[in-house]
Amino acid sequence: MNQHSRFDLPLCLAVEEDAFLHSDDIIKRYIPDLIGQKTVIISEQNLIDIYRDKINDISHDFGDAEIIAMKSASFDEAVAIAKRVCIEEIRIIIGFGGGRVLDTAKYAAHISKAAYICMPSSLSNDSLASPFAVLETENGARRTLECKIPTAIIVDTNMIISAPEVQTLSGIGDTIAKHTALRDWKISAMKTGSRTEDFAYALSRMAYDSVYHCDEKDMKSRVFIRILSRALVMGGLAMEIAGSSRPCSGSEHLFAHAIEEYYPQVRISHGIATAMGSVPACIFQKQDPEGLVQFFRTYKLCIAPSAYGITEDMFADMWEKARTVRPGRITILDDTPYDRVQLGEIYRMMEETR
Ligand SMILES: [Zn+2]
Repeated sequence: MNQHSRFDLPLCLAVEEDAFLHSDDIIKRYIPDLIGQKTVIISEQNLIDIYRDKINDISHDFGDAEIIAMKSASFDEAVAIAKRVCIEEIRIIIGFGGGRVLDTAKYAAHISKAAYICMPSSLSNDSLASPFAVLETENGARRTLECKIPTAIIVDTNMIISAPEVQTLSGIGDTIAKHTALRDWKISAMKTGSRTEDFAYALSRMAYDSVYHCDEKDMKSRVFIRILSRALVMGGLAMEIAGSSRPCSGSEHLFAHAIEEYYPQVRISHGIATAMGSVPACIFQKQDPEGLVQFFRTYKLCIAPSAYGITEDMFADMWEKARTVRPGRITILDDTPYDRVQLGEIYRMMEETR
């Protein structure tokens, strides 16, 4: 990994109430050079239908920017958008939506070298500011591709508060997953004689701490949304600084990837899957998972596998698959022998949290 290479930081991180109603003022304040440049807005049809007024308002603020409804979060779609951006000499791409839209817009901006303004409609994971985009390549297969981080990130707290609760819960799960991810990073560094990038480590740790130790327990409050937004962005920047996803992704993410790749019929969002994975990961790492379990209970984030249709056999198989799903990623799983009895006990303990 490019541990000693340069890294970028966004020029603007605005987390404000009704930020989308004056996004042009925000950009004028931080990056005046971008004002008046040809702009395109990437979103999805269902979001355009729901948030028509907001998106039209943003379009108006950016010189009647064209609104494109993307069809798939795929490599081909990102390349097609990038092609248009280059040919039509568009300088700014605005991504308005959830993870799928933001990853596609981010990658299109990366290829076309356009400035990228990230406007999340929900906070479901930490990819909004990360140097990676997850896109479909061929036959439904998905790849994680390196790319540039956003030029600007604008979070409208009112928008996030009105987003479906499960998406915010997913963002919470992806943040709490950093606990076991960071431990796995240390384990891997120790084994390979490499080192964890201190600043990236601290940033990710602080992102986790700010949410885990948050006094505000109402996830629909402005205070909580502000803290969660910043935590997710800091997680992304930790990956940018480390030049890898290690500060935010360990064995709990391998578990989530195993579900995504081998059990696509299981309907569980990324962040919830990593939350579910963090409890067994904690146990494998010989840490007490009780704090995490209590935290999830407080925010009503359900980690009982059966709530998502995951049986005990599937659960055990997911952990078996997690070992091989990302070859080369060293985690506690490399030192944890497959123990069907222990996995059964963990499964039943997690069921009892329901
Ligand atoms: Zn994640």
